[in-house]
Amino acid sequence: MTGKEKSPARQSTEDEPDRVPAQCLCGAVRLDIQYPAFWAWHDHSKASRLAHGAAYATYVGTWRKRFRIVKGARSIARFEDKETGNARNFCRRCGTPVYYERKSAPKWVNIPRALFQGRTGRQPLYHLNIGELQDWIYIGATLGPLKGYPGVVWERPKRKKRREPPAMF
Ligand SMILES: [Zn+2]
Repeated sequence: MTGKEKSPARQSTEDEPDRVPAQCLCGAVRLDIQYPAFWAWHDHSKASRLAHGAAYATYVGTWRKRFRIVKGARSIARFEDKETGNARNFCRRCGTPVYYERKSAPKWVNIPRALFQGRTGRQPLYHLNIGELQDWIYIGATLGPLKGYPGVVWERPKRKKRREPPAMF
């Protein structure tokens, strides 16, 4: 049962309950996939970092035949990386990355996890290119309120610990 999300409280199209919808920021592009996705992962590669303008990108992968562009096919622009042959598709109106295709895996489509509001049937348990993990990402350190800025929390700088010899000496 690895990677399977609990309680599939997912959104679905009323007439097709096994499909889960996704959309770009402006709503011009709507996609859906058949539930569940095959797998989900975090990608820390430079290409995904730049394409998303984010520390890393989280994807769900599915078979192309289980993937559908429901609306806005003409609003999709495509960038093909000449070096890798991989193609990134994004909404030409709002810039949201909507899906990504790898040349080496033509039967598969990778969709940013964030585009789905509901469950996709897979938890992102895997990390690709972990060696490229950025040292500025937030990884769950304790946060406290920032004085004078309501709604802003921050990671307090660590105090330098005084070096004391072990108690046994
Ligand atoms: Zn859009």
